[in-house]
Amino acid sequence: QVALDVIPYGKHYIDEDDIQAVVDVLRHGMLTQGPKVAEFENTVANYVGAKYAVAVANGTAALHLACIALELGKGDEVITSPNTFVATSNSILYVGAKPIFVDIDKESLNVDFEKMEQAITSSKNIKAIFPIHFAGLPCDMGRIKQLADEYNIAIVEDAAHALGATYNNGNRVGNCQYSDMTIFSFHPVKGVATGEGGMVTTNDEKLYRKLLSLRSHGIIKGNFEFPGVSWLDDSLVNKGDALENGELKCWYYEMQDLGYNYRITDIQSALAISQMGKIDLFLERRKQIVKRYDQAFESCSNVTPLQLHGRNQSSHHIYIVNIDFESIGLSRHQFMQKLAEQGVGSQVHYIPVVKQPYYQAMEYDIGNYPVTEEYYQNTLSIPLYYGLSDSDQDLVIFSLKSLSQ
Ligand SMILES: *Cc1c(COP(=O)(O)O)cnc(C)c1O
Repeated sequence: QVALDVIPYGKHYIDEDDIQAVVDVLRHGMLTQGPKVAEFENTVANYVGAKYAVAVANGTAALHLACIALELGKGDEVITSPNTFVATSNSILYVGAKPIFVDIDKESLNVDFEKMEQAITSSKNIKAIFPIHFAGLPCDMGRIKQLADEYNIAIVEDAAHALGATYNNGNRVGNCQYSDMTIFSFHPVKGVATGEGGMVTTNDEKLYRKLLSLRSHGIIKGNFEFPGVSWLDDSLVNKGDALENGELKCWYYEMQDLGYNYRITDIQSALAISQMGKIDLFLERRKQIVKRYDQAFESCSNVTPLQLHGRNQSSHHIYIVNIDFESIGLSRHQFMQKLAEQGVGSQVHYIPVVKQPYYQAMEYDIGNYPVTEEYYQNTLSIPLYYGLSDSDQDLVIFSLKSLSQ
């Protein structure tokens, strides 16, 4: 039986400032589509160094809109990783395109570059690459961009784990110097929490306009304030209906595409803005915790930390260890249960997407992804989050060490 006060593997951190920010919106603000949405967008765009940002209801919606904005559809193939949350490849399926999974590299746990190159040269239908910065460790985007340019392929970075992570050149993930768009998630277990929330960043004004309209039914409405965008120039189709004496009629709106209601609220945006003010603290604390784990497991032969080489670039979304369950003589299930009995939560990231029944029915075969399968069989994510205290971390280390003797 699992104890009630188990230390979770990940957790959001909310303080009085955050609560006050939400209360202020409830007392004085608009609940949705008020000024907080644009402020949240500007905050993230400035933080990552992108020109534009579009906030949406969640990270999955961000991925879906990115697929539509790129006009991906039937007959198109999109390269992605099997070592991700199902949302990444699901978004590709939403638009009728086909995910092409490429096995991971056992060091970075991101898509293997050479295998990706093979996949690209062996099909004429690859239209996009969706790299995932797994656990917060950025892919080598310089190389991926070079390859994509050579074959005229678009790139959407899934940076749901990687807010605050940096590329080789020190720039922040999401500045879109290597991609058409980058998506983020603000689910409570991610680095910054809004409850539910997502964002797309881009430097491309055309994509930006498209994303703005798609998140709200494909409607263009002239009396909305969109920073840097004028709807009066070439955006309107029915100018005759729309304009009076060169001015937009005050009630006018125009649906040009089949969009969705993927809007985020001002309540969530206010929480996000307040949380973004603490992101450097969040990242710094995660880094400390990671360092302490790394040191603690150095001498432990059955527990091996992964992604060690990328520590200074990572946003440290999750802390993953490889555990030799066979030599310990416990199954992973038993091991996780024993950990929980000692008050330590753990998780597995992830069941490879190709093993999910829905994907198996499409005839994806885990046998084609031996590195992913090997990684999946022997790993565990252990508690890593801003509010994890030193004493709780000590308990995690102690339990893990004593169980893996
Ligand atoms: C969480 C996550 C998503 C989806 O984000 P939601 O906000 O939960 O919709 C997409 N990709 C990855 C890698 C994720 O971890």
